[in-house]
Amino acid sequence: MDLGLQGKTIVVTGGSSGIGLATVRAALTEGANVAFCARGAERLERVASELAGEFGADKLLAQAFSVLDPEANIAFAAQVAERFGTCDALITNAGQGRVSTYADTSDADWRDELELKFFSQLHPIRAFEAQLRASGTGSITAVNSLLAYQPEAHMVCTSAARAGVQSLLKSLAGELAPAIRVNSILVGLIDSQQWQRRFDAREDQSQSREEWFGNLARRKAIPLGRLGNPEEAARALVFLASPAASYITGARLEISGGVSRFV
Ligand code: NDP
Repeated sequence: MDLGLQGKTIVVTGGSSGIGLATVRAALTEGANVAFCARGAERLERVASELAGEFGADKLLAQAFSVLDPEANIAFAAQVAERFGTCDALITNAGQGRVSTYADTSDADWRDELELKFFSQLHPIRAFEAQLRASGTGSITAVNSLLAYQPEAHMVCTSAARAGVQSLLKSLAGELAPAIRVNSILVGLIDSQQWQRRFDAREDQSQSREEWFGNLARRKAIPLGRLGNPEEAARALVFLASPAASYITGARLEISGGVSRFV
């Protein structure tokens, strides 16, 4: 199947690691130009130079900034327009989860989490909206979590914020149609830097990576018996972002190995 991405421009937020990096790579493999960002300049530059060696520096634009900085998003959008003409697809991936319960989440934690989850969508979307409208095949695809529909007590504010983001995306799918399609993926457990950090901080340091991840998959009762890998999420993102998904908007796709319990 031809995804129709040859020569199109895809913007990926949080592209220096995990799902975002796999998405950058998958989009480049499909022949798209890719602009991506992350806060940490060192890792971003290292990744960009590796990708430039593989795909050509003319296909890439990497910029270090936080998606929570509205001016930086606007400046990035201007750079993308100057370099590639317009943005055809925006993939909002930047972020991380917060592990805390109702009892140990302060007001400041709630505000930080709500700000991260909502404005990591709103700032890039506002910055790229005009370009996406001009594209003719504009799309926004958000990385969200199963926690939106299946909250967990140990991630109370992340779960609540994720549900709110699904509501926002549904509204946008109506308001931005027909010019821009808006979809999301709902991620279960994907073996990325987030989980690597939790593995590194494990209580029993004698446990191997294989044992620790195997136990995690069993504890979470994942029907497919393992965590997903970033490439498995990336393939779904690139499809939803592409012209091949031209009649899909307001939709969500689970990438979870079957771990959801809702119908
Ligand atoms: P990683 O930690 O591997 O990658 C996160 C990426 O986002 C990095 O490039 C990071 O770079 C960047 N980033 C984080 N915050 C910002 C910011 N404010 N501005 C710009 N870039 C930022 O994590 P994942 O690949 O796992 O996560 C990708 C998305 O998937 C996240 O939104 C996460 O919450 C979500 N998710 C992941 C799950 C999983 O199991 N892996 C489960 C549910 C949701 P830097 O730190 O340098 O900014």
